[in-house]
Order: sequence, then C-alpha cells, then structure tokens
Amino acid sequence: MPPTARPHAPSYYAATAHAAPPRPALAGATTADVCVIGAGYTGLSTALHLAKKGRSVVVLEANRVGWGASGRNGGQLHSGQRRDQKTLENWYGETCARLLFDLAEEAKRTVEDLIASHAIDCDWRDGLIHAAHKPSRHVEAIREVEHLVARYGYTGTTLLDRDRLAAAIGTDVYFGGWRDGTAGHLHPLNYALGLARAAEAAGVRIHEASRVTEIVRTATGAGRVVTADGIVTASDVVLAANGYLDGLDADVDARVMPIRNYVAATTPLGDFADRLIPGREAVSDSRYVVHYWRLSADGRLIFGGGETYGHRDPKDIAGFVRGHMKKIYPGLAEVPIDHAWGGTLSVTLSRMPFFRRLRPGLYTACGYSGHGVAIATFAGKLLAEAIDGDTSRFDVMASLPVRRFPGGPLFRLPSLVIGMSWYALLDRL
Ligand SMILES: Cc1cc2nc3c(=O)[nH]c(=O)nc-3n(C[C@H](O)[C@H](O)[C@H](O)COP(=O)(O)OP(=O)(O)OC[C@H]3O[C@@H](n4cnc5c(N)ncnc54)[C@H](O)[C@@H]3O)c2cc1C
Repeated sequence: MPPTARPHAPSYYAATAHAAPPRPALAGATTADVCVIGAGYTGLSTALHLAKKGRSVVVLEANRVGWGASGRNGGQLHSGQRRDQKTLENWYGETCARLLFDLAEEAKRTVEDLIASHAIDCDWRDGLIHAAHKPSRHVEAIREVEHLVARYGYTGTTLLDRDRLAAAIGTDVYFGGWRDGTAGHLHPLNYALGLARAAEAAGVRIHEASRVTEIVRTATGAGRVVTADGIVTASDVVLAANGYLDGLDADVDARVMPIRNYVAATTPLGDFADRLIPGREAVSDSRYVVHYWRLSADGRLIFGGGETYGHRDPKDIAGFVRGHMKKIYPGLAEVPIDHAWGGTLSVTLSRMPFFRRLRPGLYTACGYSGHGVAIATFAGKLLAEAIDGDTSRFDVMASLPVRRFPGGPLFRLPSLVIGMSWYALLDRL
C-alpha cells in the first residue's frame, strides 16, 4: 500500500484554500544539499531561502503542505518576540534584547516581503489590537507601549482607553489596550501554500505523504533521511516538525511541549461584521491562555480560545470554543458555527523559541509558543543563512537558553498540566 497523507483539519482555511494538487510521496533514493523535514512555515521558508541561495533542497512532509499548525492557526502576525522587551532586557541584557527586537521587526517585514514578492494571495490586512482583561494588565500595556516608543523608537502604536477599545472591537469587557499598526493578519493555509509554490518555482522538490521515520548519520558525515518508501541523502538536515515531532529527536522533544489549541469560524456575519470590528484588525487579549480573534475576508468571526494538554480533544470543539467566545461576545452566543478545529503548537518553558544546531549537519527551529507566523517564517531565513555559512544571526537565537521540561518523558505532561492550570486560574482571578 502506498503511504497516504492525512487530510487537512476541517477548518475554514481548508474549506477556502487555493487549489493544491497532491505532491507525490518520496519513492526510491535521491540526494540533495539539504533535506527539510516538515512543510509548515519553518520548513517551507528554509527551503525557499536555501533555493534562492542556489542550494538543492528536498522537503519531506508526512501529510499535506500546511497540514500542521501553519495551516490551522489564528493567522495573527505579531510584532516583537513572544516575551515583552522588558522581560527580555531583564533576562538577557539590553544589547541582546535590542538584537531580538530588531530580528523580530525583520521577521514581520520578511512575511510581508514574501507575500508581496511572490504575489501570495492570503487576505493580508494590517492592524492588530491588544486588549487588557484586567485593569492591572492595562497599566502594564501602557508602560510597555511607552517603553517601545522611548527605548526602541517604535512608532506603530496607538493607545486605546476603555471606550475607544470597546468601539474598535465591539465589546466592553476589556479595560483598555493598544493598536499595533504594523502587525496584522492573514489566511494561514493560503500563506503556507503560497510559500510552497514559491519554493517549487525556485527549484525545491516537495514530497507529501512522506513521513520520516529515521535520520541516520553516514560515515562521511551526511544525513540519510528515511521514509517508508525512500531515502534522501543530504549534507544538512533541518528538523521542522514543531509540535508534531512525536519522538523523532529525543533532545528536541525534551525541550518543547506540544499543546492543543482550538479555533472556530462562525457563519458570515454580513453587515454586523463591520459594526463588530470596524477597522478589521486582529485582536488578542492579555490572558495567559490567550483569546484571539479576527474577521475573515468573507466576514466570519474566527475565534481562538482554550487549549488542552495531551492528545485528547474536547468531544465538541465548537461548543468548547463557543464557551470562550460568548464571554467576550454574549450577543453572538447563538450564532451558527460553520467550522471548528484544533491544532498542535509547541511551547518552551521560557516561551522563547528553540533554535539549535543539534549536531554537525542537523538543525532545528521550533517552540515558537504561539508566535510562529512571523518567527517560524523568519527561522527559515536564519536557518538558510546558517547552512550557507553565515551563522551570526542564527547564533543570536540559538544562544537563548531553553531548559528541558522537568519530569522526563513520563512526568513532563502532568507537570505542564499543573503549571498551565495555575496560570489559567490566574487569568480568572
Ligand atoms: C490553533 C493555533 C493557533 C495559532 N495561532 C497563531 C497566531 O495567531 N499567530 C502566530 O504567530 N502563531 C500562531 N500559532 C502558532 C503557529 O501556527 C506555529 O508556531 C507555526 O505554524 C509553526 O510552524 P512550523 O512549520 O514550525 O510547524 P507546523 O506548521 O506544525 O509544521 C510541522 C509539519 O511537520 C510535519 N511532520 C511532523 N513530523 C514529521 C515527520 N516525521 N516526517 C515528515 N513530516 C513531519 C507535520 O505534518 C507538519 O505539517 C497557532 C498555532 C495553533 C495550533
């Protein structure tokens, strides 16, 4: 039996994806300069940037292009790293924090440049609003924005008091916030499919239904990447499987934890959509287990909220997300939900990503902790630079300490559940 790819999650994105004919599974032996494992933003961007540098690249994807988090996420493109700049300054010092800010700004621009230069049709819109769910979080947000302006010269921000925020996002349950004019949102699966098309146009070979089962190092130092029906021999190998890694590399597995997160898309809201979010920005709140939402191009509310730890999804995902959504929009409690789905992201203990050269010729970037639209795309650019011989910027990210989850393979999940439940409780207090 030939290997088969699992279909996309039953998402609004899969229902509105541009046509993407299946790519053939890997069959037989082949060679390339670089073999990339996983066709999400990390893998596709790595492949595209390497191909632009003249490298031959094979991408092996267990399922379909964009099947993982890259095809299912909230579509929000954030400024900055996953942690705010003050935290980064305290942790790593001012010089490193500045470098991280500059890299994150470039990450955001990289996404926009890729969309523009490859004419990727993915409903890109700028504007993202941060909403504070507690008065104390509003005070923190004001300080953060003032800090970004004063210390980093960041001018994309507009502070919103409670009334202006309520008018901008159609609900008065938040205490104030700010608008980030250079962040934004997009159709995540069509963005991934566009990256794949751009990579193929640059010469990359992509195989779907090609799950990698083993990576072996040969006597000459090359990597042999094995699937059910084929082998790729390559000088360098990039692990870009993120939350779906599933034991392929024990060292990476110990440092990133898969988490399931859920999204629902309502039926189109018609004229009401423009009254709900008149500026059509994406919105993200200050909860630890964050609520995030936006309007799709056809006027649906796409709302993300709630997560689970482990492999079991809620029986009724639409009902699960609706429970979160109606706390923000009680008026939408009965609105029909047309699509509801889950996806796996990966988090690290620090919530900063895990970039590493694991051993000579084997690289990874993962653990974006919910911040991957920009940073995973950018990881591909830095991985390509490093493999091409300039490790300077990759090394900035790779120098960030990322500790192993406590408890080892058996007990790390229970300890994560205890930790996350504590933070979820803080959200409610
Ligand atoms: C519900 C949800 C909402 C999110 N919302 C946002 C958001 O709004 N903004 C934001 O910035 N980030 C968000 N994220 C995070 C973001 O989607 C991810 O950080 C990003 O997509 C990671 O990209 P990736 O390419 O590293 O991994 P993925 O897109 O997960 O791709 C990994 C790929 O590797 C493949 N794979 C795994 N194992 C193998 C193997 N052995 N052989 C071959 N292939 C393999 C998988 O099939 C998969 O396609 C969200 C994530 C989820 C799940």
